[in-house]
Amino acid sequence: MSVPYRIEASTGLPTDTKGPQPKASDRIPIIARPFVSDRAKKTLDIVEKFVEEECIPADPIYAQQVGQGVVQRFSATPPVMEDLKKRAGELGLWNMFLPKNHFKEGAGFSNLEYGLMAEMLGKSHTASEATNCAAPDTGNMEVFAKYGTAEQKEKWLKPLLEGKIRSAFLMTEPDVASSDATNIGMKIHKEGNEWVLNGSKWWSSGAGDPRCKIYIVMGKSDPDNANVYKQQSVIFVPAETKGITIKRMLSVYGFDDAPHGHGHITFDNVRVPASMMCLGQGRGFEVIQGRLGPGRIHHAMRSIGAAEKALEYMLARLNDPRKTPFGKQLHEHGIMLARVARSRIDIDAARLLVLNAAIMIDSKDAKFALKEIAEAKVFVPQVNLEVIDRAIQAYGGAGVSQDTPLANMWAHGRTMRIVDGPDEVHMVQLGRNENKRGKWLLEKIEWQKRRTAEVAKGYGEEVRDVLLLERQHSKAKL
Ligand SMILES: Cc1cc2nc3c(=O)[nH]c(=O)nc-3n(C[C@H](O)[C@H](O)[C@H](O)COP(=O)(O)OP(=O)(O)OC[C@H]3O[C@@H](n4cnc5c(N)ncnc54)[C@H](O)[C@@H]3O)c2cc1C
Repeated sequence: MSVPYRIEASTGLPTDTKGPQPKASDRIPIIARPFVSDRAKKTLDIVEKFVEEECIPADPIYAQQVGQGVVQRFSATPPVMEDLKKRAGELGLWNMFLPKNHFKEGAGFSNLEYGLMAEMLGKSHTASEATNCAAPDTGNMEVFAKYGTAEQKEKWLKPLLEGKIRSAFLMTEPDVASSDATNIGMKIHKEGNEWVLNGSKWWSSGAGDPRCKIYIVMGKSDPDNANVYKQQSVIFVPAETKGITIKRMLSVYGFDDAPHGHGHITFDNVRVPASMMCLGQGRGFEVIQGRLGPGRIHHAMRSIGAAEKALEYMLARLNDPRKTPFGKQLHEHGIMLARVARSRIDIDAARLLVLNAAIMIDSKDAKFALKEIAEAKVFVPQVNLEVIDRAIQAYGGAGVSQDTPLANMWAHGRTMRIVDGPDEVHMVQLGRNENKRGKWLLEKIEWQKRRTAEVAKGYGEEVRDVLLLERQHSKAKL
């Protein structure tokens, strides 16, 4: 892939009077630098420039071009997005998410290298789609690349990789606790050479977009299997199949996220050819587990980018000369600088956690990095929300209004504590695994105490309590 963008070419972005700000490649944390190629560093700088100078300014235009009213908003194809996609293609910024050690179809970067780029993309509403790196298509393309037949790849993966169509992943259901995927109940049964699907799905992200042409659907094909992890299957279902109804779209704190959106969809005797089964009957869990690892890293790094953007907004407000509550600019109020410092520490700590997980995935696979992925999945959204919240507070009323992107960023950031498994699921997994050492640790600590007694004996001593007092009251009772 070529990198034709001349990084020196400026479109007029002001330079800091205190000296130029370091480029993204110069800000890579030192522990991650040895794992990042020169080509990735160069591309990262181009991504940053594209996001800062072209995508962020286009974000409000995109929102405007989505239009008004449910029907219009969910059939919009904002022209500014098509132009950004064209521009990203010219710059060679396309499909950076597909990791090079597992897929030949991507731009040839590692999870770590793409993670650094995803941080930049997370600062803009339009940047991920503009570079064909938007969820849920990213995870869905991985499913097709990993498990699709040659025919399925040609029909669905190719146009997805070209950014011509979009896709949705349909797992969650309104009637069951879907964070435990063994509950997923959509009925799938075979009739002749077809699978027949019946049931209801919701939170089907991306289904609102008329360009969304393919669903990846999880359902129950073998409800009586004694192994609850073998009851489910994943099937590819073309979005325009007879029997599918997008009943309504769901809002996120009042935002509809159009045209992408989150659909509530019903399946009424939906029929697909037997060849649409993904990987094999009863192998649904394998598919969803294979899909989620790197995707969580992408979400986490985009959240880091959002937190950085919130901090930038906060610093801008702290230095706005028009805003002087109680006779001082906000940066002169100590509490505000303490919040800036806290945000800086939190973001930097969170980034290290995610990059560490990405390096672990690159060194083997997502399974190898389960603990690190779960840590990032829990920690990063919380940091992001706290940083955005501090920025909102600094803006007063404007912070919760449409006059800054912060309110929308908070709403979106809040969902990250729920999507792809709520915090608690990962906390339980982390806690349970950590606790596996508990019994051994009890034995180790008891052994160390016994060893202390032996060492003391070697010095001819006994182990004494350091605060041993043994004071006795000798006065006679009055
Ligand atoms: C904006 C958005 C986009 C989404 N996109 C998609 C999508 O594209 N495709 C898709 O299939 N789904 C999607 N989802 C759904 C999401 O993955 C689910 O909402 C999530 O997995 C939780 O499932 P649930 O809503 O059924 O909640 P439940 O499973 O009913 O859980 C409710 C709550 O119970 C608690 N809980 C759960 N497990 C435990 C535990 N082990 N210990 C203690 N407490 C626990 C948690 O607090 C949890 O939030 C999306 C959701 C949102 C908000």
